[in-house]
Amino acid sequence: MSESGRKFLVGLLLFLAAGAVIGWLYGELVWGLLATALVALVWQVSRLLNFERALRTGDFEQFRVGEGLWEQIFSRFRFERERATRRKQNYRTLLREVRKSTNAMPDGAVVLDASNEIIVCNRAAKQLAGLKRKKDRGQRVDNILRDPELTRLLQSEDHKLTIEIMSPVNDGQWLSCRAVPYGADQKLLLMRDVTERMRLAKMRREFVANASHELRSPLTVVSGYIESLADDESIPAGWSKPVAQMRRQAARMRQILSELLELSRLDVAGPSKSDELVNIPELLESCREAFEGHKGIAQVKIDAQSTAELRSNRAEIETVIVNLLSNAIRHTPADGHISMTWRSDGDGADLIVADTGEGIGPEYIPRLTERFFRVDKGRSRDDGGIGLGLAIVKHILARHDAELVVTSQSGEGSQFRCHFPENRIVLEAPVPLAGGG
Ligand code: ADP
Repeated sequence: MSESGRKFLVGLLLFLAAGAVIGWLYGELVWGLLATALVALVWQVSRLLNFERALRTGDFEQFRVGEGLWEQIFSRFRFERERATRRKQNYRTLLREVRKSTNAMPDGAVVLDASNEIIVCNRAAKQLAGLKRKKDRGQRVDNILRDPELTRLLQSEDHKLTIEIMSPVNDGQWLSCRAVPYGADQKLLLMRDVTERMRLAKMRREFVANASHELRSPLTVVSGYIESLADDESIPAGWSKPVAQMRRQAARMRQILSELLELSRLDVAGPSKSDELVNIPELLESCREAFEGHKGIAQVKIDAQSTAELRSNRAEIETVIVNLLSNAIRHTPADGHISMTWRSDGDGADLIVADTGEGIGPEYIPRLTERFFRVDKGRSRDDGGIGLGLAIVKHILARHDAELVVTSQSGEGSQFRCHFPENRIVLEAPVPLAGGG
């Protein structure tokens, strides 16, 4: 017990004792005790009521501090109250500073709760995406910025995922968005103006497309003359080797140009809207036949585990299979095995091309779909590799909402799995039962 608590008790007991003594002197000990107890009680209750009123009205001037225990209670209370006020002021200043600094940021920042409702956003979010700090608070951000890509970003568990959307308020402006976990169950949606980057990428794509297009005609003329020279038996014997080499290089240039043009076409094309129902096992078979008769290649097996059809563009899916199969053939020795599998389940379908060939080191796997990337440039050039095949595969798959998953180990073979979502798959309609009625 504190000093003032002890003093309070002693004072109270002395007061009661004095009452009892006075009562005893008048021959009424109990009444004397009761009367002093009542006075003490009324006094304390009146102090308590005073204190309660001061708490309620906030007017502590009217509250008489008194002494002893009441003074201690009051001074403790005043101390805590002042501390809380100081803390509040500090928080307010801090909050103002944070708001000032986030408002000075060129990137948009929006704090979202677990159901993607806006808690707070900075000034850049208003300028870039038209979000309003007060008006849009409590609204779902994907109801304000209606873009399927943004919905995909908000649903994704991948915190490194970035998407590009068009600004809803500034014509022609591109925003790169990313969502990172923030606090408990919250998200921070970050937006950055990437219009300049997108413009440069578009210029680069257009340049490559135009250059490839312009080079096609002169190359056709040059190739024509080289073909004639190669077929001409009257040319001197010393020329036959260089002419054969020119012929090979001209063919390679034609292939590079046609693959670059294909990539340019895929770049500008949006998602594939094709409603063709493609029978994948049949397509796998025809692609295998295209390579039949080639000497010294590994055996190719087809494993059709599903009869599901793929809603897709047949020619593009054929390009995917031919690219994956020709890669597998080029990177697998003749005594190796190549398999092409088609399977489906509730989660979608997989088209897998696997081989037991040379495999790929883990450090190269993330770079395989980059344009002109080859693991072994020298060797790849010798066997006709350009480094555009998997870039084309990736583009085509993206147009079909599909993804490419590569697993491989150096020296043990590779697996290229194309995963198609469920909405691209059409399961065979059940055959109606004959008879009955
Ligand atoms: P390329 O025209 O060189 O085949 P791709 O884009 O198709 O270009 O492939 C890129 C690189 O990936 C290839 O150069 C090769 O190094 C590697 N690669 C692709 N498929 C396989 C495979 N099945 N086995 C081993 N390496 C492969």
